[in-house]
Amino acid sequence: MDSEGKETAAMKVKFMGAARTVTGSCFVVEAGGHRFAVDCGMHQGNKEIEKRNWETAIYEPAALEFILITHAHIDHAGLLPRIVKEGFRGPVYATPPTLDLLKILLADSAHIQEMEAQWKTRKRLRHGERNVEPLYTQRDAEATIRHFREVYYDQAMNPAPGITVTFRDAGHILGASILELMAAADGGTTKLVFSGDVGRPDQLIIKDPTAIDAADYLFMESTYGNRDHKDEAASIDELAEAVAYSYQRQEKVVIPSFAVERTQELLYCFHLLNADGRLPKDMPVYVDSPLATAATEIFHRYTAYFDDESKALLRRGEDPLTLPQLRFTRSTEESMAINTADGAAVVISASGMADAGRIRHHLRHNLWRPGASVVFVGFQAQGTTGRRIVDGAKSVRLFNEDVAVQARIFTINGFSAHAGQSQLLAWLERFRSPGLQVFLVHGEYAAQEVLAEKIKERFGYETAIPDYLEEVTLKPGGEIERIAYPEQASPRIDWNYLLTDMEQRLQHLRARQARLENKGWVEQTDVREKLLELNRKLTALIAEI
Ligand SMILES: [Zn+2]
Ligand SMILES: [Zn+2]
Repeated sequence: MDSEGKETAAMKVKFMGAARTVTGSCFVVEAGGHRFAVDCGMHQGNKEIEKRNWETAIYEPAALEFILITHAHIDHAGLLPRIVKEGFRGPVYATPPTLDLLKILLADSAHIQEMEAQWKTRKRLRHGERNVEPLYTQRDAEATIRHFREVYYDQAMNPAPGITVTFRDAGHILGASILELMAAADGGTTKLVFSGDVGRPDQLIIKDPTAIDAADYLFMESTYGNRDHKDEAASIDELAEAVAYSYQRQEKVVIPSFAVERTQELLYCFHLLNADGRLPKDMPVYVDSPLATAATEIFHRYTAYFDDESKALLRRGEDPLTLPQLRFTRSTEESMAINTADGAAVVISASGMADAGRIRHHLRHNLWRPGASVVFVGFQAQGTTGRRIVDGAKSVRLFNEDVAVQARIFTINGFSAHAGQSQLLAWLERFRSPGLQVFLVHGEYAAQEVLAEKIKERFGYETAIPDYLEEVTLKPGGEIERIAYPEQASPRIDWNYLLTDMEQRLQHLRARQARLENKGWVEQTDVREKLLELNRKLTALIAEI
């Protein structure tokens, strides 16, 4: 209550994801009697993290008036079909390129969900168990599209009375936005800024992130809160080196790549290399991913969103996303033909971490060939095939076969779509709000701690790192109230129970030693094989801790 006894309009933000993690972006805001969400991302990671996708009830989908989407990445919008399926009825606002990209990305995501459920169901039925429902289906994705409403950069819009939102170019991927949100209450207004994902300045194709100069509360991403990137020029040179290496040996350059933005950026790089005479005329470049092909078409539709350099090229009649050697493959037959044909070629295919998709076939065909190259151009998460190769594995398992790694491996990390640490700080430097309160989101905790320290040191801003499901109450000029739910956010793991259980199992095994010795020799070797395998896994696990 303020001095006149009137209730001061407090605002509430609940962190439904991207809190001390990089996925599942979603912030539920309550302001001026309205309840809505900024982003609706899928939680990605281990089983425990992915369980959160099923707990949709806590989002209270039917009680959300509208959803604002910063950009088309699945970790920001991939849960939309689930939310719609569970009762959300309002509009979904985003820029036209974001909505077009979402149409293909959500359909693709639904397809993956359906395939996964099918695969699990087959396995379960064999065990006499019940079938598995997909998280959402193609039909749910189609239903979601009917909620889409276009908004344009730099044009304020009112999704509800008293709430004004302006989408600004975030320079992250095509159509990505930073949101400036004003909520009116008691004659005053409070300004919230949601950074979405902040782009790396000087990225090819798209513009630089928009500078924002004021806010009361800032919700800022922190993916690279603890490090900077290498520069892009060096990355293009490395790409040229891979091309030269495999061309000389008449082998292939295989590039696992995300379908959206990274693939188009690579095309731009090859366009530049071609113009420089650093891409042989008789070395075809294949884009072998239906999703990447569809995304490239969307980029061609939105050249108005390109940066000045790209637009200058277009004006001169040069299309930076194409080159004479470029081929888009459609059918599986065309995809397979790439590997049966002799000679040098570049193959760009998905997925970006080599965990799924056509890229796995290209790796199986090329990884063992000494003259071939495999070029990694994006972050490789722990546990993925890509990460194993980058970490120097001598062989990797592909389609139930160990494939030797004899190709030359390039790891190019100058292509990030995220601002690095100093670029995040430079973006923050433009704010002229002495009382600014910063909430760091979308980052791993270790990176966030480093960035929070830097922010306090350099700007003196109050900086918090909210946890999953935490709620904050914002009262302009007043203290922030934070309520965390640790039991829900990170339920305690009973290590003692688990370890005792394992020890007991080993004792049971020991008790059966005599029985084991009485088995036939072949049977004994089978059991021995299995135990050695367990032992290897345990040893590796201990080394990891
Ligand atoms: Zn993103
Ligand atoms: Zn993101």
